[in-house]
Amino acid sequence: MARVVEIFELDGRKAVVLDQTAFYPEGGGQPNDIGVINRAPVNYVSIDDDGRVIHHIEGDIPFAIGDEVAGEIDWNRRREMIQQHTGQHILSQAFFQLFGAETKGFRITDRSTEIDLTLEAQPDEIDRAIARAEDLANAVVFDNREIRVHNVSPEEAAALPLRKESFVADCVRVIEIADYDWSPCGGTHAIRTGEVGLIAVRGWERAKKMTRVHFLCGVRALNDYRRVSRTADAIARKFSSGREDVESSVTRLFDENKRLLRRSRELAQIAAIVEAHELIEAAETVEGLRIVSKVFEDRDVEELNLLAHRLVDGDNVVALLAAKESETARLVFARSANLSADMNALMRAACERLGGRGGGKSDFAHGGGTKVGELNQALELSRTVVRASHPRG
Ligand SMILES: [Zn+2]
Repeated sequence: MARVVEIFELDGRKAVVLDQTAFYPEGGGQPNDIGVINRAPVNYVSIDDDGRVIHHIEGDIPFAIGDEVAGEIDWNRRREMIQQHTGQHILSQAFFQLFGAETKGFRITDRSTEIDLTLEAQPDEIDRAIARAEDLANAVVFDNREIRVHNVSPEEAAALPLRKESFVADCVRVIEIADYDWSPCGGTHAIRTGEVGLIAVRGWERAKKMTRVHFLCGVRALNDYRRVSRTADAIARKFSSGREDVESSVTRLFDENKRLLRRSRELAQIAAIVEAHELIEAAETVEGLRIVSKVFEDRDVEELNLLAHRLVDGDNVVALLAAKESETARLVFARSANLSADMNALMRAACERLGGRGGGKSDFAHGGGTKVGELNQALELSRTVVRASHPRG
C-alpha cells in the first residue's frame, strides 16, 4: 500500500505522486512499467529532476490526496523488460571481454533491443564476432549465475572492476553478475541469469560510426523464433521442400526468373517486329505515307515505345500509339527519319486535349493525360494534322 501525496494536471493527463512506488520510471534506456493504481490505468511513469516518480493516468482518478492506494504493475511486461535489460548487461560484457568493444548506447524499443558498440571490422568479421559474443552470453545464461545489487559509495565503486558505461553517471548502485560483470545501473534486473532466457542477435548495422547490434531476449526471442519458424515452414511448403532447403530453393527460383525475364524480353523484340509489320500493312496510306494509329487496352509505356521504334524503323511511317490505364491515357508518337512532321508539337496539342502534359523530340514524343474519354478524338485530330501536313507527291 502507498499514500497519495500529490495529484496534478500534466500534458492533459493526471499526474499522481505516491509516498512509495514499485513502478519503474522510464530511464537509462529502459522503458517504464505500466499497470494500475486502484484500477486506474497507469500508462506512463517518469521521474522528474527532484527524483519524484510521476504516474501518468488517463481519465478520472478514483482516489484523492491522502488516500491509501494499491498499485499493481504489469508483471509480464516487467519480466520482458528485465530480460532485455539484463540480457544487455550480459551481451555487452561478452563484446567487451572478447573484443574490447565498449557499449556506448543502449535502448529497448518495441521491436528489439539495440546496443551501439565500438566494434570496427569487415562485415564478415563482425558476423563472426557477433556469433562468438552470442555464444558466450548464452553460456552465462545457461550457467544460471547469481546477480547481486550493491549500493556502494563512489569511492567503493571506484575500486570495483566496473565495465565502462558512459551513459550512466551515478555510480552508487552496482549490478554484479557473478564472476562476469560489474556495471553501475539503476534499472531492473533478473535475480539469476537463467531468467533472461535465450539471447538472440537479430542483425546489425553501422550507425553513428559504431556497430549497432539488434537482439532479443527471453520471451521476445521465443516470439521471434515462432514467427520466423512459421515463415520458413510456409515458404518450404510452397517449394514442397524441407525448411533447410528453402534458401537454395529461393535462389533457384530467382535465377529461373532472371532467365525467363531475359527470354521474354528477347521474344518481345521479335513480337514487336511482327506486330509492326502487320500494323503497317493494315495502315491508312496517304500519298505513300502510312499512318498507324491505335489504342491498346493493357500495355505499358515500355511496350508502346518498343512497338513505336519498330514501326518507324523503315521510311514513311507515322505511329500514333496510345494505352489506356484505369484513370490515365499514355501516348507515344513517332515518325520515320525521312519525314519532317513535328511529333513534339503534335504531342503537346494532344496532351492539352487530354488534360495532361507531354513532349519530346521532333521524331519521338511521350505524353499522357487523365481525360481518357477524349483519347480517340485526340488521336483522330493528330491524324488529321499529320495528313494535312504531308506534302502531296
Ligand atoms: Zn542495468
